[in-house]
Amino acid sequence: MLHTRYGAPAVLKSIARKDGFTLLATRLSSSYATKERGALSTPRQDTVPLAKAAPLSVMPMPMFLRSLLVATISSKKWLLLPSLRILDFLSKPHRTWILNLEKNPILYAILKKSFYDQFCAGTTPAETRTCVNALKNLGFRGVILTYASEMVFDHKSGSDHSPGAAAEATKEEGAGVKIDNVIESWRAGTVGTIDLIDEGDILAIKTSGAGPAVVKAFNEGNLPPQQMLDALNDIGTKCKERNIQIIVDAESQHYQKGINRVALEMMRKFNTDGRVVVYNTYQVYLKGTKSLIMSHLAEAEKDGFTLGLKLVRGAYIATDDRALIHDTKQDTDDNYNGIAQGALRQQLGEFGGSRPFPSVKLFLASHNRDSVISAQRLHEQRTAAGLPTVDVAFGQLHGMSDEVSFSLLAEKGNNGQPPAVFKCSTWGSMGECIGYLLRRAVENRDAVLRTNDEYMALRKEAGRRLRSVFGGA
Ligand SMILES: Cc1cc2nc3c(=O)[nH]c(=O)nc-3n(C[C@H](O)[C@H](O)[C@H](O)COP(=O)(O)OP(=O)(O)OC[C@H]3O[C@@H](n4cnc5c(N)ncnc54)[C@H](O)[C@@H]3O)c2cc1C
Repeated sequence: MLHTRYGAPAVLKSIARKDGFTLLATRLSSSYATKERGALSTPRQDTVPLAKAAPLSVMPMPMFLRSLLVATISSKKWLLLPSLRILDFLSKPHRTWILNLEKNPILYAILKKSFYDQFCAGTTPAETRTCVNALKNLGFRGVILTYASEMVFDHKSGSDHSPGAAAEATKEEGAGVKIDNVIESWRAGTVGTIDLIDEGDILAIKTSGAGPAVVKAFNEGNLPPQQMLDALNDIGTKCKERNIQIIVDAESQHYQKGINRVALEMMRKFNTDGRVVVYNTYQVYLKGTKSLIMSHLAEAEKDGFTLGLKLVRGAYIATDDRALIHDTKQDTDDNYNGIAQGALRQQLGEFGGSRPFPSVKLFLASHNRDSVISAQRLHEQRTAAGLPTVDVAFGQLHGMSDEVSFSLLAEKGNNGQPPAVFKCSTWGSMGECIGYLLRRAVENRDAVLRTNDEYMALRKEAGRRLRSVFGGA
């Protein structure tokens, strides 16, 4: 489950409150001009200028209008809170037909054309393929696609359950071999997802979606049952053949020890020849993540594989043990930027100093404009100066932070090409995706400053489009 709580420096809040996005951009620009590019210090929130006057101008009109509608609702508490309540109400099973999303065509159409299409790729394989192609036509290097099925850990009850898969959790005997049907249905859904993307795209997997037996092993810090290991092996082999990368998502701390072990074994097996087939996700809001990364770097050095280093801040602050998480947002930001920039300089702990820096490919999954744009610029500066660095790619969620994504795309590199930016989307039926949609709405509620920035950027773009229609600037 993705749960987020956003904090923000008071200075940015006050800037955004005064005058919105334009003033924010001006202040960010002047602040950045005073700083040396690529300075050793960790960048703060106020260091990156806008790269291009109208990064949202590339959005097609229907997408733009839908984003404006969703951003308007998300940035106004009096609109968002009732919408959230309605979404929450509709997400519960066993509603009468008039309130049942799958049965009431009018309700279905309203939700489908608004929230679903904003954040999800499609309810069918054909629809998903169309959305994937449309995203790539906007200039993104590719998509990261996930199948919506997942396991949810409810911290209040202390238990986990798999919506939509619970009925299939029974085991069958066939030719003397026990088959876990939940693992099998996860495998089939994941393989089906691979068939919806192309060479250069990325498959993201939530391994907890494979059900109770897998989660039980993860809870104990163990590798999952052999059936799951076989499924992962098949998925890895298929993706490697088709030049599709895999991201192993980070999830609740209850599962992370086991997930990290699985991801490490997959990297050891598939990330050979300097290529990355598998990325592991590292949640840097955790105090222990830096030493976890050091130990995985040591493994990569020892066994000669490439470490796929996907960095996120972390989405489980609401449900995980708070003591494990950095005390402040600033600490999380410093840790994120410090690790990202350390990797880009090939200097992390003793690696790049007393020990050689192993082969690493970096993936920065973040909506934080400062983190991603300063990382991209550092990468370009080092490339231009002939200094050692690592390949870096970026990802934002479909329907969120488009302004950050398009600003990144506008940051042309030394070779005149935009950086590798991916949009991360989810596909599945309305029922399967409703929990995901609810989390996006909750995330927007909690990310007050960012949601407001997005709304102001879209409003500014609406003004620009209107002026261009009526012959203005
Ligand atoms: C493409 C993509 C893939 C993702 N995959 C995963 C994944 O596999 N696993 C996962 O867990 N998350 C994942 N996330 C979500 C991610 O972890 C963040 O929750 C989300 O992106 C918000 O962080 P941010 O970097 O965008 O920046 P910001 O909005 O600047 O940061 C918000 C984040 O800061 C941290 N934070 C907020 N307040 C505090 C505080 N008081 N103390 C300490 N830390 C604080 C939290 O992590 C919060 O989510 C993904 C995000 C993207 C864009």
